[in-house]
Amino acid sequence: MHRTRRALAALALFVSAVTTLAACGKEGSPPVKGPQPDQLPVYQVQSAFRLPDSPTWRKAKERGRLIVGAKEDQPYMGEKDPATGRYSGFDIEIAKMMSASLGFDPASIEFRTIASANRETALQNGQIDYYVGTYTINDNRKKLVGFAGPYYMAGQSLLVRTDEHDIDGPQDLDGKRVCSAAGSTPYQRIEKDYPKADLVAYDSYSVCVDNLLTYQVDAVTTDDTILMGYAAKVPDELKVVGKPFSREPYGIGVPRGDNALRFALDDALALHEKNGDWKKAYDATLGLSGVPAPQPPAIDRYPAG
Ligand code: GLU
Repeated sequence: MHRTRRALAALALFVSAVTTLAACGKEGSPPVKGPQPDQLPVYQVQSAFRLPDSPTWRKAKERGRLIVGAKEDQPYMGEKDPATGRYSGFDIEIAKMMSASLGFDPASIEFRTIASANRETALQNGQIDYYVGTYTINDNRKKLVGFAGPYYMAGQSLLVRTDEHDIDGPQDLDGKRVCSAAGSTPYQRIEKDYPKADLVAYDSYSVCVDNLLTYQVDAVTTDDTILMGYAAKVPDELKVVGKPFSREPYGIGVPRGDNALRFALDDALALHEKNGDWKKAYDATLGLSGVPAPQPPAIDRYPAG
């Protein structure tokens, strides 16, 4: 009973934390840990830029704006403010940098939320021009889509309640209810390497977190970047435990055959890493978790094919 009440209170807190962050606009005091708009870099729009060899770029040019796939419930990385509809986070900044380099004003980007399991289809169907949302580059996915980058190296971790003392790493998951997102690499890794865990899948990690707070599951697993954001919102209730147990290189997903777009994004990433934008963007978003900016990983400009 006590446990349930406490969990419900935590859930209310989680929801209100999200709402408070959203509500703190111009007149209120700034949110303690959300990205602060005045700290975000301004990216210079390359208005004379042309990429006629890219069908995706040509279509966007005709349309007059870019359509970018993202996440909307991952604090620090990709989060949508329910009041204004605006997206913020490190992934969102990467999307904006890329937009500026491709000759589109970042303010004109139309963001669309796409869940982990639907990313490849969204790119294949032309629903989005590119995707920036904690998207791990791997060989399986490369058969379906292209990847610029990587622009960040994350690692799979575990999120538990602060009153949990039995789980400190993936080796402790036998018989435990573990939640992750359908179609994600963390889900696949638990399924394959830790088959004794009782694995549950939802479309998004925030649903897993709600289930964790209400004692429906014992742990949530995905990248440390994502889990740190949830823990930061309710530090009295949630903690990230153990060490990262995978390498998740984040790429920008593009339609598979569009090598011109992929290479242009690789070039753009290199430029924004060199001119300091990448670090400024990190410091103003994911860096709020307290982890200092790492060196970005080397860009893998793999050949067209
Ligand atoms: N980076 C992992 C993946 O791409 C987990 C995060 C996510 O689902 O977006 O599957």
